[in-house]
Amino acid sequence: MISVKNKDQIKLMKEAGRITGEALALAGEAVKPGVTTKQLDNIIRHHIERCGAKPGFLGYGGFPGSACISVNDQVIHGIPGSRVLEEGDIVKIDTGAVYKGFNGDSANTFAVGRVSEEAKKLIEVTKESCFRGIAEAMPGNRIGDIGSAIQSYVEANGFSVVRRYVGHGVGEELHESPDVPNFGTKGRGVRLCTGMTIAIEPMVNIGKPDVFELPDKWTVVTADGTLSAHYEHSIAITDEGPIILTKID
Ligand code: MG
Ligand code: MG
Repeated sequence: MISVKNKDQIKLMKEAGRITGEALALAGEAVKPGVTTKQLDNIIRHHIERCGAKPGFLGYGGFPGSACISVNDQVIHGIPGSRVLEEGDIVKIDTGAVYKGFNGDSANTFAVGRVSEEAKKLIEVTKESCFRGIAEAMPGNRIGDIGSAIQSYVEANGFSVVRRYVGHGVGEELHESPDVPNFGTKGRGVRLCTGMTIAIEPMVNIGKPDVFELPDKWTVVTADGTLSAHYEHSIAITDEGPIILTKID
């Protein structure tokens, strides 16, 4: 069932989203060669707790961190730990804060020092594809309009979208109905309406879309070993258009 939020609930989701966005930005500022993924995770946890919120990912399904931190060919769900970031890596940080019972969920991809031109383009295309998806999140449109906008932009740039993992509704639960795929057909799927809150999160690979899970049961990597980027915002669909809940000014 899709839960539709009222204005007061969306206000709380904005707070959860702001804390999430701030935590992500702080971690992003700390990205540089020599930093471990665990250090980034600590920055996120401390900020979320300082704001009187809870890290939504910590303990979710048994996940041991406050953020999923995935490097290079790791797509999503990387476990923070002793891995040291190196010049030329790209690092995806995905996190969420729970504030007064509501979840934020946001991700970004950061360059570690100087990265290749191809990696830069991948990061830019992934981010832009997310905004193209968000622009379709209007009452009366359908889920397929979002996926189609993301997929067509990504593929026009020579990259591919991951099929195996998708965006989702977000609210009192981190993952709610409906699924929000990063691919699809215009005019198909669930009809969007005011009060729906969803996380739009393209995962984009330089190579093929196929991915698999490592034996740690969390980390998802590209099957062909190529780089992957991830960008995510939680948004609310309103009569005035989409509001990005996890954006900070
Ligand atoms: Mg996320
Ligand atoms: Mg998500």
